[in-house]
Amino acid sequence: MLPARSEIIHGRHARGERVAAVFPIHYPRALFYAFDILPIEVWGPPKMDPNLGAAHLQPYICSIVRNALAFQLSGGLDSADILVVPHACDSLQGLGSILIDFIHPKQPVLTIYLPRGNRESGLEFLADEFRALYRQLAEITGCQPSDAELMASIRADERADQLLAQLHRQRRTLPLAQLELYRLIRSREFLPVEDFCKLAESTLMTAASANGGIPIIHSGYVPEPMEMLRALSESGGLVVADDLACCGRRVYPPGTSDDPFVRMAERILNAPPDSTRGSPIQDRLEHLLRMANDSGAKGIVFYNVKFCEPELFYLPTLRKGLESAGVPSLVVETDVSDPLTHQVVTRLEAFLEMIA
Ligand code: SF4
Repeated sequence: MLPARSEIIHGRHARGERVAAVFPIHYPRALFYAFDILPIEVWGPPKMDPNLGAAHLQPYICSIVRNALAFQLSGGLDSADILVVPHACDSLQGLGSILIDFIHPKQPVLTIYLPRGNRESGLEFLADEFRALYRQLAEITGCQPSDAELMASIRADERADQLLAQLHRQRRTLPLAQLELYRLIRSREFLPVEDFCKLAESTLMTAASANGGIPIIHSGYVPEPMEMLRALSESGGLVVADDLACCGRRVYPPGTSDDPFVRMAERILNAPPDSTRGSPIQDRLEHLLRMANDSGAKGIVFYNVKFCEPELFYLPTLRKGLESAGVPSLVVETDVSDPLTHQVVTRLEAFLEMIA
């Protein structure tokens, strides 16, 4: 039983605590915890009337950004105290600019730039971005958490991510259907860290008999609409490994540095390769092949958002490499506002039948 985001926000505000609405994808959760701010992520949201947002954007901007803007303009983010826009792609950077320069929301809008590729300078660059974010949060809240307090928040965040990684690893023997498992995994997007840990621990303690099905890797961006996971189960598919931008690519490993800002940066930079961080295509390919080999997956389903440039740039080369290595793949493109269509379900069924 997961609480609704609105319930959590209401509880935080009743205790005089703040909430930040955070857009995709990578950001230092622990930094917000240290300021007693709960980050609540905004992936779309789905089921929004996109027209409000569409009026401000080119028609080729993805539904994640379009719906986020529509949500903000319709008052959906009014309960947030801060808006955070990480620079995952040009469209999100554009969203940050529109908010700051044209919409002027009542809350402060903070942006975070992420380094691209695997350059050595990336670590110090990102640590500096987080130091700048610290100064902005200190100004907003009037608090200045010490290094020890930052490290305590980082350790709590690392513990939650270790449990998250365990949920991914033990997914076949958990007492949850695929849809329920993804609801739990994605609760990391909004639950307070201690609540997520309790839920994950109690789930991991309950073993069940191994789930069966045609093993696949779930890649792409975000599993929306989530009913797709039910359709996948009903068609005989079983997700045995995850490479989704919103899920598996955010299983951050623990850091090693004693400098809290460097540690938060290295956790993100050492995460699985990701198109929005500009990881080399070869790294993405090797990661997926390793994943297929370790999990026994027979194919990969890329479930993407229409017009997602970072993902689209990688797909042709990535799929060619997978095909050469004998790993078939399917690409499905959706709009997060769309319901699950028969056409998508039929394509999933046909793919599963082909690789079974
Ligand atoms: S779906 Fe792709 S294009 Fe849209 S915000 Fe996410 S990374 Fe950017």
